[in-house]
Amino acid sequence: MHLVELSEKFVSRFSESGPYYTSYPTLSEWSASIGAAEYSRALEKFADEYEQPCAGLYIHFPFCPKQCLYCVCNAVISQDSLRINKFLDTLEREIDLLFSFFMRRNRALRINAIHLGGGSPSFLEKQGFLKVMQALDKWHIREAFEEFSIEVDPRTVSAEKFDWYREAGITRLSFGIQDFSAEVQKVINREQPFELVQSLLTPDVRRDFSSINFDILYGLPLQTYDSFVATVRKVVELSPDRITLLRYAHMPESRRHQETLSHYPMPDDNEKVRMFIAASQIFTEAGWVHIGIDHFAKPADSLAISAQNGTMQRSFIGFAPGWSQNLLGVGPTATMQVGSLYAQNIYSLDDYDKAIGDGQFPVSRGCSLETDDLVRRDVINSILCRYQVSFKEIEYKYKILFKNYFKREINELSELEAEGILELTAHDITVTQYGKFFLRQICKVFDRYLQTGKRYTIAGP
Ligand code: SF4
Repeated sequence: MHLVELSEKFVSRFSESGPYYTSYPTLSEWSASIGAAEYSRALEKFADEYEQPCAGLYIHFPFCPKQCLYCVCNAVISQDSLRINKFLDTLEREIDLLFSFFMRRNRALRINAIHLGGGSPSFLEKQGFLKVMQALDKWHIREAFEEFSIEVDPRTVSAEKFDWYREAGITRLSFGIQDFSAEVQKVINREQPFELVQSLLTPDVRRDFSSINFDILYGLPLQTYDSFVATVRKVVELSPDRITLLRYAHMPESRRHQETLSHYPMPDDNEKVRMFIAASQIFTEAGWVHIGIDHFAKPADSLAISAQNGTMQRSFIGFAPGWSQNLLGVGPTATMQVGSLYAQNIYSLDDYDKAIGDGQFPVSRGCSLETDDLVRRDVINSILCRYQVSFKEIEYKYKILFKNYFKREINELSELEAEGILELTAHDITVTQYGKFFLRQICKVFDRYLQTGKRYTIAGP
């Protein structure tokens, strides 16, 4: 396979730290000044605005049976069924709290996309899984959705569980794969051989679920360029509909369980860039379409179709087909977007339980977007999802003159233009084919909060 020549400039640009813009302003700008009262007001406005309000719903199940050492998720490691059952009772009460809020305003909230994430929701046994489904059915939540997805840990699923998922109406399975090397799997404490994943993907499973996603991680300890390319080739062999190619974030200061991984060799920046580029080339040559920063999808998958017709959106859960502008969430640490408000639920399970017991939305922080944030969010989403920004579109929507409003930004973009990352005309910004590796770097130019000299620690793409 031909590899692109990697100049020093390419490597240093690609490795620049910065946010992934699953929200703008990013989580680090959210504050505790946003709580249950502000979230209630945003929901009230949302309910008043629409005859039939429509949103996506994220459900966070925080438990996992074992600690994966690379994990950056909000997970609770426990196999205590009493604790899990108690949590499911609270989750049901939170669903009741949210949907009765709309009912009291004579609005039937329609949910058009459901995502069951975690933690590890495939760890749920039948009784627990059905309890969540019944909690949804009380409010007719499973009656009119476009997509219903679940995160799957290959070590905790079985053909039987796939039967429950199919009966529940789940349409998309998202497998946490990370790496197929046995050595890497052992070190990261997630042993799930290729043969296990292969045996799970039976013709029935492929037929019954319209989309199968694999999450892959590069930059893990013990990974080498060759070992990672071997993983990528195995992914191609298993042929998922979508692939999310994420970079491992090593943050042992805040994720203590990652400390053990510091004792193993990790790929350097140059090797990580080569891994990303090689994976990207292998996937695209095999027929997947490169989407946004780090997603790949087969052309017939709903994500590729939405990218093609311009409806794809950036959200907390990555790139999505854009079923809805608003995303509600239940469960600890769930994040929500309602109109111009972002909110996030409490981290601690005890505090979460207490808030629900008091009949309060368990919101611990958030961000109320000013007009400037909304303008910049639209520009950033347009770069990430459409590789292009039309000045007219932004001018029409916000009644501004793009070039006046973004004078500093346009000046800064000329440096990226000189590097061949984008083309700047009198009417728009267009990301070049080469520039698609540097989307976050373009977005950073429009991030007002970075102007305060702030430095992000997460590197990219
Ligand atoms: S299963 Fe997922 S959420 Fe749970 S510890 Fe592993 S990576 Fe983290």
